[in-house]
Amino acid sequence: MYGAGSKMTNEMGTRVVIVGAGFAGLNAAQALAKAPVRITVVDRKNHHTFQPLLYQVATAGLSPGEIAAPIRSILRSHKNVEVLMAEVTGFDLERRVVATGESELPYDYLIVAAGARHSYFGRDDWEPFAPGLKTIEDALEIRRRVLLAFELAERQAAAGGPAPPLNFVVVGGGPTGVELAGTLAEIARYALAHDFRSIDPSRTHVVLLEGGPRVLPAYAEDLSRSAQDQLQRLGVEVHTSTMVNQIEAGAVHFSDTRLEAAVILWAAGVAASPLGKQLGQPVDRAGRVLVNPDLSLPDHPEVFVIGDLAALKDEHGKMLPGVAPVAIQQGQFVAKVIREELSSPQKTRPSFHYWDKGSLATIGRAAAVAEFGKIHISGFMAWLSWLFVHIFFLIGFQNRLLVFIQWAWSYVTYERGARLITGSTDLPGWSASGAASCEKPAPQEIHAGSAK
Ligand SMILES: Cc1cc2nc3c(=O)[nH]c(=O)nc-3n(C[C@H](O)[C@H](O)[C@H](O)COP(=O)(O)OP(=O)(O)OC[C@H]3O[C@@H](n4cnc5c(N)ncnc54)[C@H](O)[C@@H]3O)c2cc1C
Repeated sequence: MYGAGSKMTNEMGTRVVIVGAGFAGLNAAQALAKAPVRITVVDRKNHHTFQPLLYQVATAGLSPGEIAAPIRSILRSHKNVEVLMAEVTGFDLERRVVATGESELPYDYLIVAAGARHSYFGRDDWEPFAPGLKTIEDALEIRRRVLLAFELAERQAAAGGPAPPLNFVVVGGGPTGVELAGTLAEIARYALAHDFRSIDPSRTHVVLLEGGPRVLPAYAEDLSRSAQDQLQRLGVEVHTSTMVNQIEAGAVHFSDTRLEAAVILWAAGVAASPLGKQLGQPVDRAGRVLVNPDLSLPDHPEVFVIGDLAALKDEHGKMLPGVAPVAIQQGQFVAKVIREELSSPQKTRPSFHYWDKGSLATIGRAAAVAEFGKIHISGFMAWLSWLFVHIFFLIGFQNRLLVFIQWAWSYVTYERGARLITGSTDLPGWSASGAASCEKPAPQEIHAGSAK
């Protein structure tokens, strides 16, 4: 139990600093907004991103503004909350300050919710050739590459050259890899099928590589099988138990194969924000901070780590997954702990309990899997549940309405409304994209694991 009340000079003087305005930080701020505290929310971005729909931006189904909202406007009505756009660089837990580039922010309570990023398992040199999907910028870069590949192929074929093979490779068969692969196949088959004259987009070859024995390894086996069937029906070539051992500009090496690819996407690993290590506390292999059952740090009950950055096991000894509901519930939980501690400082803190309402993964139009305890659903009904859950949890009524209209429109017409290529017109490795060839790969083997 932390006797925070004794440290406070007056009620409104309790300073809470929240690092990160993702699902965890934002929910903590909102749940604390009526408490007698002053809250500073620090994020290096000015917007909150609804990450579960990033793949829709990456595949030109939605625009960035439909899945992201300014943090300042989300928290506008809470007068005790200030928002700072700044990069947090470190902490001094003894002096109780958070360091940003320009200043130090003192706190009485600190909530660190800086999330995670993709991990290349020590091969960061692969990132330029195989971008991952975590931010709006990542999604726009993927969209650029995907759309550009079709344009370059059309240009080459229109100029009388051979129609180059349009291979798209997705590494990692977790939920992000599955939804990217399924949607890419769908775009090629339907949305773009009639828009080109010299190439046939429907002959695009989408390959999904998964290092483990099945896609969606966090789901029940029957749902993994169903997901793989649904992907194959969309035309995706799925390789399980397949290690990627090298990625270069325009080509992926796996098993004994070197596959040339117009676009390579990385959805194979997650590492916690480096801010976790800055706290100077023990972390797990993914860099997540090992927290107490109340989500605080050992020896620092005034510091909480929540969301994707925290490592905590449930009552059965299973590590809590890095998903939005865990982050949301943890944000609300620490806010409650702080509120209760301020009103009755002697109260013993409860332990965090995750209420698992089920998991949903989408694959494409009317294709998804859903696991609600013992109830397993596949196909259209799972997809419908996925659709409504995602619209419901999107931030802001306007976004919900816009996304609903967009989805209804594209369901009927197969159109993807955000097909804009912005930025550079270079595609890594494009000049090398002749006919696909097979060579022996480099020796080092990397596990193409699952995203999220
Ligand atoms: C592509 C993708 C799809 C996903 N799909 C699903 C899904 O379908 N269902 C589901 O439940 N979960 C899904 N997830 C996982 C889910 O989005 C995460 O579990 C959730 O976002 C974690 O919330 P968080 O608040 O811990 O971190 P985040 O939401 O990542 O927020 C972290 C925040 O911290 C900020 N930040 C980081 N470092 C600093 C710094 N140094 N200084 C200042 N600010 C900083 C970031 O800008 C960000 O705003 C998906 C994730 C991805 C990437």
